Amino acid sequence: MKIEYDKDLARMNTFGMKVSCACYVEFSSEDELSDIFRNMERYGFPQPFLHIGGGSNLLFTRDFPGTVFHSAIRFIRRVDVQGDSGLKASSGAAGRPESVLVEAGSGVLWDDFCAWCAGEGFWGPENLSGIPGEAGAAAVQNIGAYGVEVKDIVREVRCFDVVTGVIRPLHVKDCRYGYRDSIFKDTAKGRYVVTSVVFALSSVPQPRLEYGHVRSAVEQALSSSGAGPATSSGPSLVRDVILGIRGSKLPDPAVVGNAGSFFKNPVVPRSSYDIVENYAKSRYGADYEVPHFDAGSGFIKIPAAWLIEQCGWKGYREGNVGVYEKQPIVLVNVTGKASPDEVVALEHKIVMSVQNLFGITLHPEVEHI
Ligand SMILES: Cc1cc2nc3c(=O)[nH]c(=O)nc-3n(C[C@H](O)[C@H](O)[C@H](O)COP(=O)(O)OP(=O)(O)OC[C@H]3O[C@@H](n4cnc5c(N)ncnc54)[C@H](O)[C@@H]3O)c2cc1C
Repeated sequence: MKIEYDKDLARMNTFGMKVSCACYVEFSSEDELSDIFRNMERYGFPQPFLHIGGGSNLLFTRDFPGTVFHSAIRFIRRVDVQGDSGLKASSGAAGRPESVLVEAGSGVLWDDFCAWCAGEGFWGPENLSGIPGEAGAAAVQNIGAYGVEVKDIVREVRCFDVVTGVIRPLHVKDCRYGYRDSIFKDTAKGRYVVTSVVFALSSVPQPRLEYGHVRSAVEQALSSSGAGPATSSGPSLVRDVILGIRGSKLPDPAVVGNAGSFFKNPVVPRSSYDIVENYAKSRYGADYEVPHFDAGSGFIKIPAAWLIEQCGWKGYREGNVGVYEKQPIVLVNVTGKASPDEVVALEHKIVMSVQNLFGITLHPEVEHI
């Protein structure tokens, strides 16, 4: 176990906020975690508690007065019989398992896990390649990209329950997954520390290429490499294509601080969408199509990036902060010296301008601490 006091967190949040915490505790096994919570009085760690992964979906708005916990449980292994539920990997016709259960420790870097699976020829997480953060947080966040959400491949989330002090495996159904949502972010927030995640993967090809330009990008990659169909090239090719697409659109936190999509895409009633559509047609002509998705029950999802761009924020810069020029849903720490106050001030200006122009309130996707 690693314990540090007055820990600088600047390198532990991808936005690069220069903040600290009173105490930082890194555990590397379930036993260490259990020991901490069993002997809380003896350890005397200052409260409140916060569990972080790679800090890629967080905005620290100030120094954290309590204890930040971090998992260093890092293993990836195949499991034949899964945890308490006793599920077994099924066998394919050729004797090779088609459905493969793989368990990853919560502190494994998510993209390392994707790379490992692609290397083994296991299909499942390839479309989620390149998403920053760790495996534990991936299950908390229900990360998603290019037509896939992690809930599609999660079988079980193994957690330490801080209320009862025992390890509790949660079946995917118990996690109540929704769009970037789960029980861990909602009713059970703060109760469970994820220690590992069991994924159900496939050793038979299952490419998911329907989203956006993924199929054409894969076909292009195949024709330039002279390889056969995507299915025979394995998940590595899809992974490489996804990494290429992401690299051309999103800022690398190692180069410029950011926390990915800063805002959620608003889901609005038809009447609100009509206001947006009228605005767009009067500005761009009657043939203009506002990007949108049917969200069911008469609701429509509008990309926050489009709304923000209409308000003129794309590429905007103010002091040390700005709006990424290629993707206006991403706020960036341009100089690396941005303060939380600067980020929050820009956030509020953007929210107000979208509210004033369209009557739609944007909500942050990034968790403010
Ligand atoms: C450039 C960039 C691109 C991104 N692209 C995407 C994308 O395409 N799709 C997407 O969905 N997200 C994306 N994100 C957001 C982010 O990467 C994900 O939300 C990621 O899962 C966060 O992981 P993390 O380890 O950094 O978690 P953190 O940001 O540290 O924490 C996120 C939440 O999980 C909780 N948590 C973390 N670990 C544990 C644990 N072991 N047990 C219990 N709770 C825990 C934290 O308390 C917090 O509430 C992007 C971010 C960046 C910077």
